[in-house]
Amino acid sequence: MSDLSANPARAHDETALVRFINVQKSYGGLGLVVKNLNLDVLRGEFLTLLGPSGSGKTTTLMMLAGFQDATSGEILLDGRPVTQTPPHERGIGMVFQSYALFPHMTVAQNLAFPLEVRRVAKADIANRVKRALDMVELPNFAGRRPSQLSGGQQQRVALARALIFEPTVVLMDEPLGALDKHLREQMQYEIKALHDRLGITMIYVTHDQSEALTMSDRIAVFNDGIIQQLSTPQDLYERPANAFVARFIGENNTLTGKVAKSGKDGLYDVALSGGGVVRAVADESLAPGDGVIISVRPERCLLGHDFPDPMNQFDGKVLDTIYHGDHIRVKVHAAGSETFIIKTVNARSDLPLRPGVDVKIGWDPKDCRAFR
Ligand code: ADP
Ligand code: MG
Repeated sequence: MSDLSANPARAHDETALVRFINVQKSYGGLGLVVKNLNLDVLRGEFLTLLGPSGSGKTTTLMMLAGFQDATSGEILLDGRPVTQTPPHERGIGMVFQSYALFPHMTVAQNLAFPLEVRRVAKADIANRVKRALDMVELPNFAGRRPSQLSGGQQQRVALARALIFEPTVVLMDEPLGALDKHLREQMQYEIKALHDRLGITMIYVTHDQSEALTMSDRIAVFNDGIIQQLSTPQDLYERPANAFVARFIGENNTLTGKVAKSGKDGLYDVALSGGGVVRAVADESLAPGDGVIISVRPERCLLGHDFPDPMNQFDGKVLDTIYHGDHIRVKVHAAGSETFIIKTVNARSDLPLRPGVDVKIGWDPKDCRAFR
């Protein structure tokens, strides 16, 4: 990266810039909070670590940045083990949720700091500070102090400060967590646009699945110190690898049951605990009698009178209808004791969706997944 403001967009290439190899971490001999982590971050990609609080995301970033040691295993940066390299020599830029700007310094002084530490020439520093401020669209803010900026502006300065010394990789730990929804969405686009323009490798941490889906080239879903699935946003949504991922990404209706019969093409008949049978797909091979969780997305459930075979279908009763403008959410009691959420964009006008009305709900077996 030679020019912060004008690098052409670059597609990420297939070589790993960062490699975690069998990395484990326990704090002071307590249990492992990162368990046998194997992860390659490709050059130029936007990779997100997504998972609930306490799943090991920050710990993973801290080990890469050099603020925590791995208990075992190895981390490679650009092919070399990082263990002997102190944090400030790793060429890693960081942005945190708390902006961590120096309050007693002006914006320009904050931006100059990482360059002064790296002994960049004075004239060069002035130039790069100016370019960095242009990049985050704050050209007239050089003389302000952080307390004179809004939250979003402070976070832009923090971003500029992380990028100004032309790091090999930028780590961001819930950087938008403190911003309100509107500003958060705007900053998501800005960060993504910067990534695309600079072609820099970014590792982003969030617990917000919609943020991860909109920004990332790939997402590593963490739970309990283990990557549950590493995939593109679309793949995670369409083909979750297990029940945790299916529940964590997007919305889901879940049912429990036992495999009754296996068919061809990875399709299984599952006898539901609440009565009835559904046909579902599974990536893993299941045997009759296996207990499974069935998952089907609200937008894949249909409302109607009758569905042709081989659609899954149940009789139900409308519990509630919520109008959202661009879609309608209908809560339906069906399949024994289950409550389904159905998301529909064009509810049929011949179906009055009042509470108490009888409806049929149905969905394609291919839109319904079984997990052990
Ligand atoms: P996340 O960023 O996904 O919320 P963390 O990596 O911060 O998760 O934490 C993972 C686990 O490690 C949690 O159980 C947390 O309590 C524990 N942990 C994090 N930092 C420390 C620390 N400095 N000392 C002891 N335990 C820690
Ligand atoms: Mg964290």
